[in-house]
Amino acid sequence: CAPTDVVCLSPVAEPHIGTSHYLATHWAQHLYPLSWSHTMIPRHSAKTIEEMRPVGSFVGATLSELQQHATPGVTLLELDELAHQRIREAGAESCYIDYHPSFGASPFGKVLCTSVNDAALHGLPYDYTLKDGDLLSLDFAVTLNGWVADSALTLVVGGTPTPSDTRLIDTCEKALHAGIQKARAGGRLGDISHAIGEVSRAAGYVVNTDFGGHGVGRTMHEDPSIPNDGEAGQGPKLKAGMVFAIEPWLMETTAEVYTDSDGWTLKSVDGSRSAHVEHTVVVTEGEPLVLTKRA
Ligand code: MG
Repeated sequence: CAPTDVVCLSPVAEPHIGTSHYLATHWAQHLYPLSWSHTMIPRHSAKTIEEMRPVGSFVGATLSELQQHATPGVTLLELDELAHQRIREAGAESCYIDYHPSFGASPFGKVLCTSVNDAALHGLPYDYTLKDGDLLSLDFAVTLNGWVADSALTLVVGGTPTPSDTRLIDTCEKALHAGIQKARAGGRLGDISHAIGEVSRAAGYVVNTDFGGHGVGRTMHEDPSIPNDGEAGQGPKLKAGMVFAIEPWLMETTAEVYTDSDGWTLKSVDGSRSAHVEHTVVVTEGEPLVLTKRA
């Protein structure tokens, strides 16, 4: 998840009455990332897209395997170690282990983001043992043969999920699908943001637009930033060969996060639970191409 540099170009008057949901919906109509005005989004050739397929498949397959292993009694460190082992076997390179952006306290130091329950994003693995009913997001990005793929999924550990967790995950997945469906040549970047935001808001969730999707290529976070809400028909034109990480994430009853004392993990301010899903997607003239499809 990358910071999105969203600005509000057209401030609107404070509404007389407003639940936080109303406010979020109202402001969402005017969200536009500053960087969109001057961004040059790389387009990759058909040959390059072919070169990107192996890393996409590797990330998808590894996430599937991690999902199977995320059972009660397993620790977050064990999941991270399994991911690390697969990276070594594949001759890949972690995008996270040395990652040290301005918003991180220190280099990440692990290869997998593990966000449990009220942890929403950037969950730093620690010696926590998973329990029945935990809501776990796994976010994984690596470089293989010089190209990056980035993907995330959310699962409920062990037994039957609660209706509210099921709804949260389903909404994220529907928002992801809606966003992917807009990754078509001829559209605009704002179409992707709007599609994600529309699904999320229609289900009654408030959307955080501070962290969202991003371009993917030789490195993990490239232009453009793709906030998880925005205005359709706005922003740069989409062209075949652009590659994006599209990644809706939602918290049950808030859009605000704080940084945990580990310096990395972003948690919901009200303790509500969070889900996050992501795919790396190629814009095409027809059906968008999902590089990180799960095995
Ligand atoms: Mg990711």
